[in-house]
Amino acid sequence: MKSHLSRRGFLTGASAAGVALQASAADAGKPALLGGSKVRPQPFPAWPVSGEAEERALMDVLHSGKWFRGNGQNVKKFEQEYARMTGAKDCLATCNGTAALFISLNVIGVEPGDEVIIPPYTFIATLNVVLRQHALPVFVDTDPETFQMDARQVEAAITGRTRAIVPVHLGGNVSDLDALLGLSRKHKVPLIEDACQAHLAEWKGRKVGTWGDTGCFSFQASKNLNSGEGGAILFNDPDLRERAYAFHNNGSGLKFIGTNFTYAGSGTNLRLTEFQAAILLAQMERIEQQARRRRENARYLTSMLREIKGITPARQYEGCTTNAYHLYMLRYNPEAFAGLKRDTFLKALGAEGIPGSGGYSPLNSQTFVREVLNSRGYQRLFPAQRLKQWEEKNHCPANDRLCTEAVWFTQNMLLGDRGDMEQIAEAVRKIQTHAGELAKA
Ligand SMILES: *Cc1c(COP(=O)(O)O)cnc(C)c1O
Repeated sequence: MKSHLSRRGFLTGASAAGVALQASAADAGKPALLGGSKVRPQPFPAWPVSGEAEERALMDVLHSGKWFRGNGQNVKKFEQEYARMTGAKDCLATCNGTAALFISLNVIGVEPGDEVIIPPYTFIATLNVVLRQHALPVFVDTDPETFQMDARQVEAAITGRTRAIVPVHLGGNVSDLDALLGLSRKHKVPLIEDACQAHLAEWKGRKVGTWGDTGCFSFQASKNLNSGEGGAILFNDPDLRERAYAFHNNGSGLKFIGTNFTYAGSGTNLRLTEFQAAILLAQMERIEQQARRRRENARYLTSMLREIKGITPARQYEGCTTNAYHLYMLRYNPEAFAGLKRDTFLKALGAEGIPGSGGYSPLNSQTFVREVLNSRGYQRLFPAQRLKQWEEKNHCPANDRLCTEAVWFTQNMLLGDRGDMEQIAEAVRKIQTHAGELAKA
């Protein structure tokens, strides 16, 4: 307040226009964290986006009285639409993305005592489903340039007990599917794509989620396609889909409907409701246009940010022809910012009206993982020698470093116009200019 008043006083008193301009620029340049004015006073586009279509869809289900997939048509229709949109042979809707992964591990045959290869840089659900299966999570280090599991290091992690490789198309960027599919075929280990952040992303012009044995999606509230909670699995093998259907329906397969409580196998209830499917169908009318907008804005933002020393936007592999940009990810190097710590950089950015996050912490070194491996069940399931070796090899140095350097912007920030992108870049440049003062403050 004080600086604002004094500036105005100075401006009216100044006779030379040049001096006034200089003073005004100096004030506008002062970081918001140190009391200057914000680069961006207005908020970014809100998420989710909804309108009459969603209202109508919800009321239709409500009044129909058909609220679950057993008697409604929306879940089925959603599965057909999502398969059509992605080019998959088949789709199964699930109650969330975690369930999509959990079902996949079950129908692919991951059993207690098996091993599953996962990245340490992901949402915790990727790890949790492996532990729920009483399997051993084997972490493969991250390629910091792309933020994806480093496919070059996967082969060394495969053992006789490996039953699945689960790459995560993190942030909507795409893992090196050529390399991973090659290893999957060579070692006859199924590939499950965790595409929970990668709706409509593409590898060589074909949608992610259609390359592996299954492809898993989440429709949780933050995701690019959203029904509050929800998920889906894509399949190319109808038999696998039938088994997944039965598993998610307490063991009752489609082939068994109409008979009296006979079961295809053991399972649980992980079904999506008709309400969620109705919302998803309405949201799908918007998704392609939103995806295009995110891509255009991200490209523009990258063109500006890569000119700033110390800022390195995530790279894509050549095969990634469409990035879904669930997250806009970059690496921050404090050396180009007068040693300003990442957390202070994020604070300063937030003060300018640009909310950023530091992203994940390393999953492979969470204490609870070691506790699980030390549990009675795991001690019984795995030879002591194997657990000892796991401990010795469980190091992901590139990922540890990435976790200290990463900066994320959320997908909704890419839904506005080019001016929004210019403000993000402007805020970063402003912080760089004043990094010395910020580092001292
Ligand atoms: C969101 C997410 C999940 C889990 O999805 P939910 O719908 O929240 O259960 C799994 N993996 C990744 C990478 C995710 O981002």
